[in-house]
Amino acid sequence: MKFVITSKGDRVSDDLQAKMKNYLTEFKLEWDPEEPDLVISVGGDGTLLEAFHSYIHRLEETAFIGVHTGHLGFYADWMPKEVEKLIIEIARTPFQVVEYPLLEIVIRPEDGEKEDRFLALNECTIKTAEGSVVLDLEIKGEHFETFRGDGLCLSTPSGSTAYNKALGGAIIHPSIEAVQVTEMASINNRVFRTIGSPLILPKHHTCLLKPKNDRSFLFTLDHITRSYTKVKSIECRVAKERVRFARFRPFPFWKRVHESFIADERS
Ligand code: NAP
Repeated sequence: MKFVITSKGDRVSDDLQAKMKNYLTEFKLEWDPEEPDLVISVGGDGTLLEAFHSYIHRLEETAFIGVHTGHLGFYADWMPKEVEKLIIEIARTPFQVVEYPLLEIVIRPEDGEKEDRFLALNECTIKTAEGSVVLDLEIKGEHFETFRGDGLCLSTPSGSTAYNKALGGAIIHPSIEAVQVTEMASINNRVFRTIGSPLILPKHHTCLLKPKNDRSFLFTLDHITRSYTKVKSIECRVAKERVRFARFRPFPFWKRVHESFIADERS
């Protein structure tokens, strides 16, 4: 089996990366940054997001696993002290894989130029550098509302514990194929009215956003920021691609949520 290990770049993560690389090559696994079957990210959830985008072109062939060198993460859920156990498990391939849904975003320019398509593991946010974001929101081809406010966040179930949660969105189990739309400070008065609640769209319910005035936007795709001028529309849905995580022991999602956000006062 071919593998690669990415690191957050701090000393602790780099040392752990080097140690794991040595162990795994001793077990006759092949280091291959070009075509890895397994990508091990050492750092935090942010490190795994970077690893995901580095290997986004081979999602069908590559599985991911995260070791955290800071606090427990949603993607980085192995602790440094468990690394020897993890190495033995990896060396015993084949491993089990769990798949999580991704978000697909298509940005179409006004002037008929080529559209851009992106995948996100956590979310896409739509903001603007000046003034408010004003856009019509359609769901499944029907006008739903005209949004005016700081922006919108479209998140995956596994990203629901990230930015989406800070915006008051629900935490969604990643076995549910859905996209969640959350508002950032919408303007609500007699003229502008939005639903005000997060929306959870099932697979195949496309959400189409059509800018009303200023067509310059700042998009974030996980940790990446891009700016666009003259945007005609933004289409979002559950992607047909999925991300694959290597699973070597059960660590249920709700347990991760509990351990990340709720201090266990009994321990
Ligand atoms: P960052 O601003 O350096 O860190 C964002 C924080 O979000 C880190 O603590 C990161 O964990 C955590 N995180 C990432 N994915 C998560 C997930 N699925 N569930 C729970 N926590 C998660 O940015 P970054 O490291 O480049 O990561 C980009 C992400 O930051 C975006 O995808 C967005 O979700 C998140 N973000 C959150 C807010 C907010 O909550 N107000 C605002 C902007 C961006 P680690 O420390 O383990 O890396």
